[in-house]
Formats: sequence, structure tokens, C-alpha cells
Amino acid sequence: MRIDVLTLFPEMFDGVFGASILGKARDKGIVGLNAVNFRNYANNKHNTVDDYPYGGGGGMVLKPEPLFAAVEDLAPDGAKAPRVILMCPQGETFTQSKAEELSKEEHLVFVCGHYEGYDERIREHLVTDEISIGDYVLTGGELPAMTVIDSVVRLLPGVLGNENSAVTDSFSTGLLEYPHYTRPAVFRGWEVPDVLLSGHHANVEAWRREQSLLRTLQRRPELLEQVELTKKERAWLNNLTAAEPEPKKR
Ligand code: SAM
Repeated sequence: MRIDVLTLFPEMFDGVFGASILGKARDKGIVGLNAVNFRNYANNKHNTVDDYPYGGGGGMVLKPEPLFAAVEDLAPDGAKAPRVILMCPQGETFTQSKAEELSKEEHLVFVCGHYEGYDERIREHLVTDEISIGDYVLTGGELPAMTVIDSVVRLLPGVLGNENSAVTDSFSTGLLEYPHYTRPAVFRGWEVPDVLLSGHHANVEAWRREQSLLRTLQRRPELLEQVELTKKERAWLNNLTAAEPEPKKR
């Protein structure tokens, strides 16, 4: 996979692209990560990328020309058109299933905004997706793009070893992940559940599934509506809900 990020602050990506799982994925050649300053595509005397809004009002608006020129340069004729993703608080809220969808692409281009907004023609005629990382407003699209890139790259084959597999991660199964414990078996009098010390693989799996269901019921009950459950699991959850009508929230 190749990932290009169009930003006015490419230096923000140096640490993130060079460290940990992303750095290793890049070193192994699984992904190409490239932060590009789209000011380089401003074809005017002062390298201006923004301008005052038509109609007046505060804030500056990103001009269309530099971003169109940058995307066209990154996706030369003949190559498969990339997914062009606008980071934007008005976009669809990012989820694990969107990360899975994007991880199947060959080429992603992220557009990071700054200032008040984008010229609407960028939204209408340049991008294929608009993604928000949540209902709050950040200064720029760089941190949101890093968030999305990290979650996409860790899904690429060969990036995570078996020991870090994403298969049981929260949301991958549709449920929240079960609790984890490690040594010591007793810490300050708090014990690890016996089943995890039993060495009985099937019982461990059954306990983990039950804990995943329970945790999802307590913290994110709405997720259970989208998950395939056995009749037995559904009945067990219904019993728990009847016993505790108000599921505990975090
Ligand atoms: N005026 C815009 C609005 O109300 O929708 C907000 C602009 S914000 C200050 C500047 C840039 O930060 C946006 O263009 C976007 O790239 C990025 N940004 C801010 N919050 C974001 C979020 N929750 N998700 C994704 N990108 C975000």
C-alpha cells in the first residue's frame, strides 16, 4: 500500500511514521508513507494556499488549485485512482469497519485541512471520502489522519505478528475485547481468575467469549444488536439485562 498525506505541516509526521508499528511496516516495505507539503503546489507569487471567504466572515478558506494539483500529481494518468480522504469534522465518523475497508486499497491520499475550512469544490469534485474522528474540532487534520493511518496500517498482512494479532481486538469481532491478565497470579491480594491458570483451552475460550459479551453489554450495549449470537448467548444476555435493567456505563 502507498499512503500520501497532503499537509501544511509534514514535519508533524516524522515521529509517527518512523516509530513503532508504522516505522516497522515502512522498513519492511509493506507500506510507503509520504507526507507532502501542498504549499509546494501553490502556483502563485507568495505560495498562498488560502484566501478570504466569499461573502465575508472570519477565518481563511483553503483554495482549490494547490490541492487539485497535488492530488493529480500523486495519481498520474494510467495509475488506478487513489481513495482521496478529506479529514473533516463533518465527515462520517471513523470506525473499525471503515479501517478494514481502507486497508484493502492500494493507494490512499489524505487531505489535512487547517484554518476555517475548504473551498466546497474540493469536497464536491476531488475527494472520495470524508472522515471525522469524532464530534469535536481540532486545529488541523494531521492528528486525525495519523489516527486513521495507524488503524489502517496495523491491519495490513505482515504488519502485526501473531502475538499482536488484530483478530480479537475490540470491534473486529463486533464486541469489546475480554480482560487480560499477566504475572503475578496474585498482586496485592487481587487474584487472576482461576480459569486462566487452568491450562484448559476450551474453558479459557468460553470464559473470554462470556467476558466479551458481558463487557459489551455493560459498556456498549448498542453493539450487540449488530453481532451474530447463538440462541444460548442471546438468552444469557437477556437474563442479565432483566436482572440489571440499567447496564453499567463507564
Ligand atoms: N470550520 C470547520 C467546521 O466547523 O467544520 C472546522 C475546521 S478545523 C479548525 C480545521 C481542520 O481540522 C479541518 O479542516 C479538518 O481537516 C481538521 N479537523 C478538525 N476536527 C476534526 C475531526 N473531528 N475529524 C477530522 N478532522 C478534523
